[in-house]
Amino acid sequence: MKRLVILGGGESGVGTAILAKKQGYEVFLSDKSALKPEYKAELEKRGFAYEEGQHTEALILNADEVVKSPGIPEKAPIIKALRAKGTPIISEIEFASRYTDAKKICITGSNGKTTTTMLTYFILKNEGLNVCLAGNVGKSFAWQVAECNYDYYVLELSSFQLDGMYDFKADVSVILNITPDHLDRYDYKFQNYINSKFRILQNQTPEDAFIFWNDDPVLKAEIEKRNIKAQLLPFALQKTEQTQAFIEQEDLTIKSQTPENDMIMPVKELALRGTHNVYNSMAAGLAAQLVHIRKKTIRKSLAEFQGVEHRLEYVATVRGVRYINDSKATNVNSCWYALQSMTTPTVLILGGTDKGNDYSEIEMLVREKVHTLIFMGVDNKKLREFWADHCTCAMYEVSSIEECVSKAYAVAHTGDTVLLSPCCASFDLFKNYEDRGDKFKACVKNL
Ligand code: ADP
Repeated sequence: MKRLVILGGGESGVGTAILAKKQGYEVFLSDKSALKPEYKAELEKRGFAYEEGQHTEALILNADEVVKSPGIPEKAPIIKALRAKGTPIISEIEFASRYTDAKKICITGSNGKTTTTMLTYFILKNEGLNVCLAGNVGKSFAWQVAECNYDYYVLELSSFQLDGMYDFKADVSVILNITPDHLDRYDYKFQNYINSKFRILQNQTPEDAFIFWNDDPVLKAEIEKRNIKAQLLPFALQKTEQTQAFIEQEDLTIKSQTPENDMIMPVKELALRGTHNVYNSMAAGLAAQLVHIRKKTIRKSLAEFQGVEHRLEYVATVRGVRYINDSKATNVNSCWYALQSMTTPTVLILGGTDKGNDYSEIEMLVREKVHTLIFMGVDNKKLREFWADHCTCAMYEVSSIEECVSKAYAVAHTGDTVLLSPCCASFDLFKNYEDRGDKFKACVKNL
């Protein structure tokens, strides 16, 4: 019997344990932190061997294969020890893919993954397909493979998951964009991160498809360097001979294999606002065309999708001021897109844990659209110093969400938008970005 050791006992680790047991492995799960009660109960109920709060080498180094949670970095001592022994280390996605023949639509990119994955899932579901949402969002892929029998999976994949994938093959792969992120995990080399994203293409054949944003300079340069076997389906705002999705005279076109099935709809009917969401809609629409979804379903779905919480989420209008929660904007690039989609004067809330941000990327948009900046964080020094030199907006500093929302309320005028799109992680004042967004919404609703 092969021994599979699972490092990390969250949704994907527990899912892997369930699938591995079913496939006849001897399973051991180890988590260096405390397990969440619901996952612990699941392991107990099923009588699985596990430990928490530690990694016991004697129980781990005897593994035939290891499935590692994407959160555990290469530099963790237990990973170093396993690498030294030459033990294969894979991700949950790699493991689970061995046990399903379902078609897999796989989505990665630096920004827009969750939105595009959920939108694609929404379209397939509306067509009535037997489809599951999994990966970084939704349920654990392994858990679903173990206990359900889906025909299609729409998987959100992070670069960390892709790093543990070798034989996996996507039927449809999507790379939305690539901008520097997580460089601390990639030896501060952007190319390493790019290579990681491109692993989504490995093993694809000419029968498979690759959807990508044609105007992304990083993606374009990398595609030119590589010999890609999959069918290429680029999308962009401009129509060219190559682009399979584009805008022409205010209409979005998503091409299909047969011209009579091309989907055409007015851009203004898209449910999701902002240029970035036009891209996300193009990517999702192209993926749907590839699995033969009818154009009327695509059109209806793109017009009705409700959006994802904490991503440019409309909260409320109070005394003529719209409040938007974009708490998931934890880098400057996603704030850029949020600002770009603003059509009114804006009060912008920035701040939190800075990941080495360069605010000059949003300087022009701030000057053009923002009249007041509110900095919400434990340490606002970098923001204060940068913006004092680069704009003439009014600026305020706050150290709690309550203070922040009442300040925004006080400075906003009828017709304005108050936008929480902080460019930063949330760990200084909040548990995570969801907590930040939830508290923002609660405070707005209390106004
Ligand atoms: P991810 O899962 O990749 O983090 P999300 O869909 O959760 O992406 O969106 C994260 C943030 O990025 C949001 O603030 C959103 O407004 C912004 N965003 C969404 N799609 C894109 C895109 N295609 N390009 C740039 N920014 C985007």
